[in-house]
Amino acid sequence: MSETFEFQAEISQLLSLIINTVYSNKEIFLRELVSNASDALDKIRYKSLSDPSQLDSGKDLRIDIIPNKEAKTLTIRDTGIGMTKADLVNNLGTIARSGTKQFMEALTAGADVSMIGQFGVGFYSAYLVADRVTVISKHNDDEQYIWESSAGGTFNIIADTEGEQLGRGTAIVLHLKDEQADYLNESRIKEVIKKHSEFISYPIYLHVTKETEKEVPDEDAAEVEEVKEEEGDDKKPKIEEVEKVVVSDKLGLSPCAIRTGQFGWSANMERIMKAQALRDTSMSSYMSSKKTFEISPKSPIIQELKKKVETDGENDRTVKSITQLLFETSLLVSGFTIDEPAGFAERIHKLVQLGLNIEEDDSAPAEAAPAEETPAVETGDSAMEEVD
Ligand code: ADP
Ligand code: MG
Repeated sequence: MSETFEFQAEISQLLSLIINTVYSNKEIFLRELVSNASDALDKIRYKSLSDPSQLDSGKDLRIDIIPNKEAKTLTIRDTGIGMTKADLVNNLGTIARSGTKQFMEALTAGADVSMIGQFGVGFYSAYLVADRVTVISKHNDDEQYIWESSAGGTFNIIADTEGEQLGRGTAIVLHLKDEQADYLNESRIKEVIKKHSEFISYPIYLHVTKETEKEVPDEDAAEVEEVKEEEGDDKKPKIEEVEKVVVSDKLGLSPCAIRTGQFGWSANMERIMKAQALRDTSMSSYMSSKKTFEISPKSPIIQELKKKVETDGENDRTVKSITQLLFETSLLVSGFTIDEPAGFAERIHKLVQLGLNIEEDDSAPAEAAPAEETPAVETGDSAMEEVD
């Protein structure tokens, strides 16, 4: 039995605005729906940490994008936490967020529709391209339900006893407006995903025909897989901050430097991502880990440090503290932020104390550092660096 609900008044207004106003930047609907899918996957993953049985309904955490040219539908499906019937009623129509009104005001004042997500109403961007939206959802605590609306003030909810069972998660079916059929094309979908959903930490599968499926974005496939591996093993220690340490002859007398790898974030990107409320922490730790710490054998500091390691051992507290300090200084020089500024300050103060009491001879010639060849250091400009 289908039940009809009225949209809360402001939501209804927002829907009219989205449907009737001409926006050129409609493609952001996909970013919003993929972002919701990713949030839902984060939620079930988090819940499963304390209750592994939550994943009995499916361990595969993924996002599928399924265009159907005959039906003119685009489906975004996730194996996330799903929504109970009550969730569907509350989250998709009856309880307005404070951002609903604020977003309408912002739009009227000339804000871009792409800001919709920041106001907590991203879901409704589906109506930029669809005249009817069907949401099928299965939460572990409830049966599968279908939510559907063509806007116009109301939505319907019905128990889904006949349809294909999701196991767990949500499928958003967009019945595309005739003029938005472009979003059924593989190349267009790929383009939008690459542009707006680059940092999603779950695999996104684009179904290209009924039989085959492809992962997008193609060139990031390896990264996505690696990220999955990192998350899969809870016992693994926290990912190292540096991918590798290399001896470099390019630095001359300066002791050390940080380089970002081809797949790592540039300093600026890392700052941007850190500033965006930690919504994607697995990706953050992965991406920010791709740094190379280069040390210069010609530097008196490195030469002295090497001597100290040889006499006191690498676990000596001073050795550790100095090494940490050199690393943190390199981070700062390269424009990164350091994770523990207080610890950094403490180490600096200790060194200042030492410096005031102990005379050090920086220019003393020392044994050369290991005559190791400099491994190929990634120097090419990476795509990530373009954001600088
Ligand atoms: P926000 O993502 O900022 O919370 P949205 O308008 O995008 O705002 O989504 C509203 C709510 O609908 C979400 O907070 C969530 O509870 C629910 N929701 C939307 N999409 C999904 C989904 N794919 N899986 C589970 N819940 C969802
Ligand atoms: Mg959202």
